Amino acid sequence: MNDHILDMNSDYADYLSDESRRAGQADKIAFPKSGNEVREVLQTAAKNSWPVTVQGARTGITGGCVPDGGLILNLSRMSSIGGIEGGCMMVQPGALLQNIRDATKGSGLFFPSDLTETTASIGGMVANNASGARSFLYGAVREWIQSLEVVLANGETMRIERGVHKADGLDFRLGSIEGQLPAIRQPHVKTAAGYFVQPDMDLVDLFIGSEGTLGIVTEITIKLLPKPEQTNGLTAFFVSEEEALDFVRFLRDDPEASKALAAIEFFGNRTLELLRRMKAENAAFAGLPKLEPGFHTAIYFEYDGDVPDAVIEEADKAVECWFSDDEHEIEKLKIFRHAVPEAVNMLIGERKKTTPSLTKLGTDMSVPDDQLENVMKMYRNGLAEAGLEYVIFGHVGNNHLHVNILPHTMEEYEKGKALYLDWAKEVVARGGSVSAEHGIGKNKTEFLKLMHGENGIREMRKLKHLFDPQGLLNPGNLFP
Ligand SMILES: Cc1cc2nc3c(=O)[nH]c(=O)nc-3n(C[C@H](O)[C@H](O)[C@H](O)COP(=O)(O)OP(=O)(O)OC[C@H]3O[C@@H](n4cnc5c(N)ncnc54)[C@H](O)[C@@H]3O)c2cc1C
Repeated sequence: MNDHILDMNSDYADYLSDESRRAGQADKIAFPKSGNEVREVLQTAAKNSWPVTVQGARTGITGGCVPDGGLILNLSRMSSIGGIEGGCMMVQPGALLQNIRDATKGSGLFFPSDLTETTASIGGMVANNASGARSFLYGAVREWIQSLEVVLANGETMRIERGVHKADGLDFRLGSIEGQLPAIRQPHVKTAAGYFVQPDMDLVDLFIGSEGTLGIVTEITIKLLPKPEQTNGLTAFFVSEEEALDFVRFLRDDPEASKALAAIEFFGNRTLELLRRMKAENAAFAGLPKLEPGFHTAIYFEYDGDVPDAVIEEADKAVECWFSDDEHEIEKLKIFRHAVPEAVNMLIGERKKTTPSLTKLGTDMSVPDDQLENVMKMYRNGLAEAGLEYVIFGHVGNNHLHVNILPHTMEEYEKGKALYLDWAKEVVARGGSVSAEHGIGKNKTEFLKLMHGENGIREMRKLKHLFDPQGLLNPGNLFP
């Protein structure tokens, strides 16, 4: 038996779930400290036909790192962060985003990936092609990955470099693996749903967003950018949702306003209500800024550079606008944003005490620019008709809003689930993606099928089979 592999016991109970609150089970667990140890563990698992579930920091919200038997490969002890060389930094997969950020301080450079959850690991971010508020300007994490070291299910290790390892049309070769990429359609919106495939693609992109189903990422070279001289954060409060969405359109469409615009985030009226309530009732939220009763909908937006005059004029239409050009103050505004999913999770945690099977239903879908108001109407009408409690917030700049349905009972949960499925069908029909940043994991496999059809799923499975013929890596992710 491999020394690094431990039998599961109650000390490891926390490793059976992620932030989706899905609960799993496992027989073994390993905490490797190097790529070599990962290889040894995978070879032992392959010999014994143990399914392997990879874990980063377990902040995922689709059950992707929740095991369904077999062995847990937890990478939290592979967290070293190297120095900066040629604008790049080499990191181990278990390094947390907040520690990578700290390590760039004082260098004049920064890592543009900007998740709301800064305790996510870089390996988990790569596996999910994660994004965040500032992806409006800087794109998803894919844009900032120069190379990856990957260990395959059979223990084969490969280093894949952007610009060096490329497909020839849909044909590709990587180490001992040779084959054809699936001919699947990518939507023209922000997406993290299924494999990323394009003719002549950089093969490093195949692993980014593959949710640990093709190989385990054991080393990552990230690209850094010169830090902007000045960042300005603003939160504008409007008396109606229509006015707030008009303002979003102005920010995106006006040539002057859209220059150096890094983020546009939306807080719906019920989201602001939830924050007000949490601030009043829960000590953990006491530090949140006071939200006046007249604030109906808020838009947070950020400039890496000066705020254009036209924007200052337009923001005058808001009932109030908070402005900050100080890094610490901007961090406070971000805490306000982070408080939303935290408040939702706390609320659901309370309800689970009486109804343990209850979870929130959180959407993560994006649509093309011309569909923003239409899907907003679809969400509101459906929720009003079903009489469900909810909040809406998120990355409105990319037409990517998180609708969180907050059921009280299992009956409401089932109603919400049916509504979510109807929306997913509609989003796909309108050219959108069923997951823009959180991935598919185990909880959204039904939606991936909606997006790619039986044929697309079959093609993706064939690709997985080339890399992992025994089907041992992250079983249950992407494909049911
Ligand atoms: C409050 C809150 C806010 C959030 N905000 C955002 C946001 O703004 N943007 C966003 O994109 N997401 C967000 N998330 C979701 C989550 O943080 C991301 O999905 C993140 O990328 C997960 O990283 P992790 O290290 O926690 O991965 P885990 O949850 O541990 O794993 C996620 C997936 O990656 C796989 N994996 C992990 N490490 C590796 C590896 N080294 N090799 C191969 N596969 C691997 C796992 O098997 C699993 O399938 C948020 C979550 C919470 C709770």
